[in-house]
Amino acid sequence: MSGRMKAVLAAAKGKDWRRKKAKAQGGRCFYCQCEMVEEPVKGQGRRELTLDHLLPTSRGGAHHWENVVAACITCNGAKGDMTADEFMAARMAPAPALSRNPMIEKGQP
Ligand SMILES: [Zn+2]
Repeated sequence: MSGRMKAVLAAAKGKDWRRKKAKAQGGRCFYCQCEMVEEPVKGQGRRELTLDHLLPTSRGGAHHWENVVAACITCNGAKGDMTADEFMAARMAPAPALSRNPMIEKGQP
C-alpha cells in the first residue's frame, strides 16, 4: 500500500477516533490537559483536537487504537516525531540555562 493511501485511510478512521478518544479523555489534551474542540473558534482560546500517535508512525508505531491519543494541535505540532515519553520528558525538562527559550524569543501572537 502506498504511503498516500495509508494516509487517506488513517484520516478516514481518524475522524471517528478523534471524537471517541477525546471523550475518553474528558475532552482534554493527553499531554497538556487543555480543553480541546473539534472546530476551534477564534478568540475562545481552545485548541483544535487532533489525534497523536504515542509511538509515531515514522518510527514504526501502528495506527492502532492503543497507540493513539487525543492531543491538542499545539502539542501535536511540538511533539513532532518524538515518542510520548520523550515529549513528556521534554515538556518537564527545565529550559537549558545557557540558551534562551526559543518560544519566548519568537514571541507568542
Ligand atoms: Zn496539548
